[in-house]
Amino acid sequence: MRTRVSSLTSLFALLIGMLMVLTATAPGAAAAPRAAPRAVDCSRVKCIALTYDDGPASSSTARLLDTLKANGVKATFFMVGSQVARNPKTARRVAAEGHEIGNHTYSHKDLRRLTASKIRSEVARGATAIRNATGVEPTLVRPPYGSFNATVRANVNAPMILWSVDTRDWADRNASVVASRVIARARPGAIVLMHDIHPTTAAAAPRIIAALARQGYVFVTVSELLAGRALANGKAYSQR
Ligand SMILES: [Zn+2]
Repeated sequence: MRTRVSSLTSLFALLIGMLMVLTATAPGAAAAPRAAPRAVDCSRVKCIALTYDDGPASSSTARLLDTLKANGVKATFFMVGSQVARNPKTARRVAAEGHEIGNHTYSHKDLRRLTASKIRSEVARGATAIRNATGVEPTLVRPPYGSFNATVRANVNAPMILWSVDTRDWADRNASVVASRVIARARPGAIVLMHDIHPTTAAAAPRIIAALARQGYVFVTVSELLAGRALANGKAYSQR
């Protein structure tokens, strides 16, 4: 009898032990990764991140979104908070269609010229505008003009995303010129800088997407592009 009780006890102990192991290794028990919503491994696949700054603007952003949707392409929009406040419906559409939203500050000032507290407030107000309009909490910051110094680095409180391909689409308002620049300078792991406030940039998207898709590129968001890298607040990243 005594042996039987003790073997039953051991059996229970064993079952409880197995249950604990199963619970500990269950998916969801581990810390969630920063962002990897799709199964794209950019260490193996030819990835590229198209990024669009300074919007949302109602008509050119909508036209661009139509093109991205028709081609199943995901991009990243670094939104300016004051623009989000002006065009909340377009901002919501960007989020609803699965694109990433990054914070491009509230009023697009050169952060190097601001005090630490003004830098923090520009970033925080940008994030608040995005959160209020879309429900999305942006995790990445793109400093306006790509401009930063030690004070900026210490106060943005997020990884800073720059770019490796500068299209200068704001200077050359010509869809063909913009598309040719992107196609000529595309590299695996690149981050391409464009601005969705320009109709010519929206008009360049179909040619960019067709040409790069033909070369085997997969279009990913910045978080997907940088997945697997440990991103640090105040550090700048310009490609994979
Ligand atoms: Zn900008």
